[in-house]
Amino acid sequence: MGEPILQVDNLKVSFRMHGGEVQSVRGVSFAVNKGETLAIVGESGCGKSVTAQTIMRLIPMPPGRIKEGSIVFDGKLDVVKLSDKQMERIRGSEMGMIFQDPMTSLNPTMTIGSQIAEGLRKHQRMSASQAEARAVELLKLVGIANPQGRVRQYPHELSGGMRQRVMIAIALACSPKLLIADEPTTALDVTIQAQIIALMKELQQRTDAAIILITHDLGVVADMAQRVVVMYAGKVAEQGSLEDIFYRARHPYTWGLLRSVPRLDSMRKEDLAPIPGTPPDLYAPPAGCAFAARCPHAMNVCIDHDPLHFHIGPGHTAACWLNHADAPQVEAPVFAAHVQGGATAGSRGPVDDKEAMARG
Ligand code: SF4
Repeated sequence: MGEPILQVDNLKVSFRMHGGEVQSVRGVSFAVNKGETLAIVGESGCGKSVTAQTIMRLIPMPPGRIKEGSIVFDGKLDVVKLSDKQMERIRGSEMGMIFQDPMTSLNPTMTIGSQIAEGLRKHQRMSASQAEARAVELLKLVGIANPQGRVRQYPHELSGGMRQRVMIAIALACSPKLLIADEPTTALDVTIQAQIIALMKELQQRTDAAIILITHDLGVVADMAQRVVVMYAGKVAEQGSLEDIFYRARHPYTWGLLRSVPRLDSMRKEDLAPIPGTPPDLYAPPAGCAFAARCPHAMNVCIDHDPLHFHIGPGHTAACWLNHADAPQVEAPVFAAHVQGGATAGSRGPVDDKEAMARG
């Protein structure tokens, strides 16, 4: 186990809206180790982007509110407790963020060079000429040809792929210890996606920054991540190593996500099986397992009792009652393209709530 650069504990975030309070993040815990890539996956609305934005303290407050929990960065700073001014110092210097759509995140009225230089001047107190020279170096680093010419151009003069490279250059400018990439390739076509992923992997090796990758694309996860957090309805459904999630998943929602990934070895539509149904209303989340209404294995206990996080193996947990020792044996599906040799759910020992199982 590596040393954590970020430790998120029992994070709860909600938004006060006209219809009431939306409980977007409901007690999420995970850690990111130095130099690793952790992917947070799940359908849209599962709370993955809100979690990322809360780590960067980018959610609008109000209507957003961090209700509970801690986000400890680099072993000492609790992001939740920092003042806006302290957070501003950390954002862009020690933590960087890459957004899905560079066109809306880049300033259309400023040249590429000035936007890269801005952080360098602010956080590293470089002179204008030093910052411009570094901007040229960074553009070269992210694979942009003719960087001396490009620094003087505006975002609209660049292609989508180039703009995303510029975003990466801005995020990396001050050598952050943690980079959060929120759907960094979703807006790009497949070829450019592959280039951006290759670039991020290469840069991570050079800089040793940890990356939190927010995505709904398991193909990107397989390419980049060492560990995976699967989120559903504002909670962590399962987390583990890439192999745990792809080959030894123990949560029906993870099985559903894996089943819905197009197989490279088949073009047949029937091989694609989206998860039926929709996630629950987070204005009034269910008392029991949030996935129960869509789960083919739901039991009585699932309706009333929120599942515990069962320990499956080192660093691998699954919040599903099927992992209770008293649960019926359910064979984990085998996913030919992604998962082989699936273990049998229900074969592991109890964690600490036999009683709730019995009550169900
Ligand atoms: Fe399905 Fe129950 Fe597991 Fe939830 S706890 S995923 S409803 S089996």
